[in-house]
Amino acid sequence: MHSRWSDAEAARCVERWAPRRGEALALRTYTSRLLGAEPDLVLHGGGNTSLEGSVRDLFGEEVPALLIKASGGDLASIEPEGHVAVRLEPLRRWPELAADLDDETAEREMRALLVDPGAPTPSIEAPVHAVLPGRYVDHTHADAVLALTNRPGGEEAVRAALGDGVAVLPYVTPGHPLAKAVAAALAEEPGARAMVWMHHGLVTWGGTARESYELTIELVSRAEAALAAEARAGRGRGGAGFVSRWSAAERTGGRRAPEEASPGRTGESAETATEVGPVPSLAEIDRRLAAAAPVLRGLLASPSGDPDRPWRRVVVRALTDPAVLAFLDAPGARELAVSPPLTGDHLIRTRPLPVWVDGLPFDDPDRMRERLAAAVDAWAGDYRAYVERHRRLLPPGAEPFDPRPRVVLVPGLGALCAGTTCREAEIARDIAAQTLAVKAHCAAAGVAYRGLADEHLFAMEYRPLQLAKLRRAAEPPLAGTVALVTGAAGAIGAGVSEALADAGAAVALTDLAGEALDDLERDLRDRFPGRILATPLDVTAPASVAAGFAAVARAWGGIDLVVVNAGLAHVSTLEEMDPEAFRRLERVNVEGTLLVLREAARLLRRQGTGGDVVLVSTKNVFSPGASFGAYSATKAAAHQLARIASLELAPLDVRVNMVAPDAVFGHGDRRSGLWAAVGPDRMRARGLDEAGLEAYYRDRNLLKARVTAHHVGRAVVFFATRQTPTTGATLPVDGGLPDATPR
Ligand code: ZN
Repeated sequence: MHSRWSDAEAARCVERWAPRRGEALALRTYTSRLLGAEPDLVLHGGGNTSLEGSVRDLFGEEVPALLIKASGGDLASIEPEGHVAVRLEPLRRWPELAADLDDETAEREMRALLVDPGAPTPSIEAPVHAVLPGRYVDHTHADAVLALTNRPGGEEAVRAALGDGVAVLPYVTPGHPLAKAVAAALAEEPGARAMVWMHHGLVTWGGTARESYELTIELVSRAEAALAAEARAGRGRGGAGFVSRWSAAERTGGRRAPEEASPGRTGESAETATEVGPVPSLAEIDRRLAAAAPVLRGLLASPSGDPDRPWRRVVVRALTDPAVLAFLDAPGARELAVSPPLTGDHLIRTRPLPVWVDGLPFDDPDRMRERLAAAVDAWAGDYRAYVERHRRLLPPGAEPFDPRPRVVLVPGLGALCAGTTCREAEIARDIAAQTLAVKAHCAAAGVAYRGLADEHLFAMEYRPLQLAKLRRAAEPPLAGTVALVTGAAGAIGAGVSEALADAGAAVALTDLAGEALDDLERDLRDRFPGRILATPLDVTAPASVAAGFAAVARAWGGIDLVVVNAGLAHVSTLEEMDPEAFRRLERVNVEGTLLVLREAARLLRRQGTGGDVVLVSTKNVFSPGASFGAYSATKAAAHQLARIASLELAPLDVRVNMVAPDAVFGHGDRRSGLWAAVGPDRMRARGLDEAGLEAYYRDRNLLKARVTAHHVGRAVVFFATRQTPTTGATLPVDGGLPDATPR
């Protein structure tokens, strides 16, 4: 691992933050971010850093304070305010307390020591940082260090790799108990310059931000070098297919190429290819993933007890890179892979163990479901037994988690990782990638892997402070819901997509490939990171529809809500109708609706957790307009298909409803395509300009309302959130048009 320190960058950080919070904290923020930038050191809120400083009290006197990362903060993006000030002197005395403080007491007592009582809660490790020497303290969960600690004889392996001056502690519960153990270790080894906590991580300290940071890098590099050496020596022992991501460390001076640095990308593909059997082609992996993911996603959903929204769904993110596949396919991989995670704070994301499903018949949907269901059930049984074994450790008031795995390992496919939202699934996936890489190393080097003991796993999984990380502010109503919108790049499609994303859904934008789709993706991706995906889809081509649905299933595991919105308009009297123009509308508005409904039904059936379909219909179905025959007739056919779908899909708990807007002119800068086709003619016919025509439509409804794409979006959200037990119904969004009332 190389140091990312840059004098120029450090100076820029001082320039930026020192005026606000002082130079010491500016540099603390800078090196915290350097640690956070390295997925091999910390992932998603893991690790913590601190600075010993002082704050001025009411009397103008300097009070010694520990500036420590707030609980739940992320080092990668931390701001100076992300370190909260805790009065140092009392905190430093905590190890004198004979009895261990439980999490709740520790949290309350730490909050009582906050200089600003309104500040966020400090990291649970604050008492540990308080007893460590050095003005700056850096704590990480470095993979390379954990690869050494998590094995039989781990303490010796750490000492041999990291050399003198590094104290090694057995596993101790983080928080107050760890602070006591650290204080005792320092009393015994006052010359220590760093510490390794078994099955937990590394901590370094120093007089300056750079010193402490560089020491972390130095020790991690030493660990990497030791791993590289044992990987080379162990080659052949571990069996073909096992590749250590550290085996190249010496050749590259411990530095991995940037493209290798992302989680799950372990590189070494050239060597892998010569050592293992044929890895399935990318296209084959895609096919398997699209087939398996929705079935698995359905099995991982848990019953909610709410008849309107009976499932708590998950999002599934897959890890299918060649190194993971090679590892899972190698002999003996199962024993190694089905073992605890690298460090305790991964548990709430991954659960104590992954589930292993081999021999999955990807071409036989029924048998595939059976096998997946059996594996998930067996895992659930084991999990319940584990909860029973440790029930006495369950904090008061805490309920056992839903007994379903979060990481599913499938040889020939990869690791499928689940979370209740896109973000949670992404975190589970990143953690799984790091975990599998360390375990693959153990196999390559021929060393055993040993994770935390069962009771420590349980204690960490059900720690009140860990549980608090999962209890976020109320989730938006569609969090964890995956939506697919056709014709998303049009005005109504964009408005609906935006409304769904606002309500928390992951939204797949589909339309014909082109600039309009790309622009919308860019707009929404920035506002809803990780929850927007654009995929080209031509509703008139069955293969394209199937491919679009499959792409979404691969990205998020499945689909819960399909908004059938793509449509075309054409202005002509019947007398003058060009049959080819009529057929064009038929293909998009009727056949397109049919093909999307057909694919939705197939996917929702495989998933088995119900779903919703909303058709964007039109007021013209009920109140057609002259010269608008092709549109009114084809939309009426689409509307009827949706009603049929409501009959056919009700047994699957799939609700199908319609929204019937009156003319929508545009959405932001986006003009409605529908409108572009009819606006000019209508203006000419009525002798109006654009504003005049808009006013004409507004004035013809009872409420004198301008109908917008936002309104249509809200109507879709109404159905998608299942506020009422309704299917086969039409919600007019037209300001009140008596002759267009559904009848
Ligand atoms: Zn830690």
